[in-house]
Amino acid sequence: MDGDFRTEFVREPAALRQFPALVLNADYRPLSYYPLSLWTWQEAVKAAWSDRVDIVAEYDHWVRSPSTEIRIPSVIVLRDFVRPQKRVAFTRFNLFLRDEFRCQYCGAKGDLTFDHVVPRARGGITSWENVVAACSPCNLRKGSRSLRQARMNLRKPPRAPGAEQLRNMGRKFPPNHLHESWLDFLYWDAELEA
Ligand SMILES: [Zn+2]
Repeated sequence: MDGDFRTEFVREPAALRQFPALVLNADYRPLSYYPLSLWTWQEAVKAAWSDRVDIVAEYDHWVRSPSTEIRIPSVIVLRDFVRPQKRVAFTRFNLFLRDEFRCQYCGAKGDLTFDHVVPRARGGITSWENVVAACSPCNLRKGSRSLRQARMNLRKPPRAPGAEQLRNMGRKFPPNHLHESWLDFLYWDAELEA
C-alpha cells in the first residue's frame, strides 16, 4: 500500500503517538475514519472517569495517581450517539479520497496532483465536479486542453461525494499505525457490507 503517501495528509499531534484510544460512536463504529477518531490517553482516561464513555479494550500499561490506578484504554465507546456529519468538506484530502488516491485518467497511484477537467484558462472552476486527482504525466499531457481535444477519458464522472460514500472509501485506506485492539472495529462492518 502507498501508505507513506497518505500519511502526509493526516496530521498526527505528538500527544497521539503514545497510547492513543480509538473512539467509537455508541453504535460501535469509529466516530470518524478520516482522520481516524483518536483521543490522547489523557482525554480517554478523563472521559472514562466522567462516565461519558465505556472502555472496550485496554493497553498493557497503567497510569497511577496518588489515590488510584487505571489501565490505559485502547478502545472506548461513547455512551451517547453522535450523529455523523452529512456535509463533506471540499478539501484536497477528501478529493483524493473520493478518487481513491488514483489518477482519474490512467489509474496510476502515488505521486498525484490535481487537474481541472475544464481548464481554468477556459473558465473551469475549482469544484467537486471539475477537479480530479491526476498523475503528473497525465496532467502534463492534458495541459490546458479539453478532454476531447486531449483525447483523454475520466474513469468516472466527478461528483460531490456523500458523507457515507466518503466514509466507505475511508475504510479502504486505513492509517498506517493501528493497534491490534482496533482492528475488529475498523473492518467488521465493512466486511458485513461487502
Ligand atoms: Zn495518469
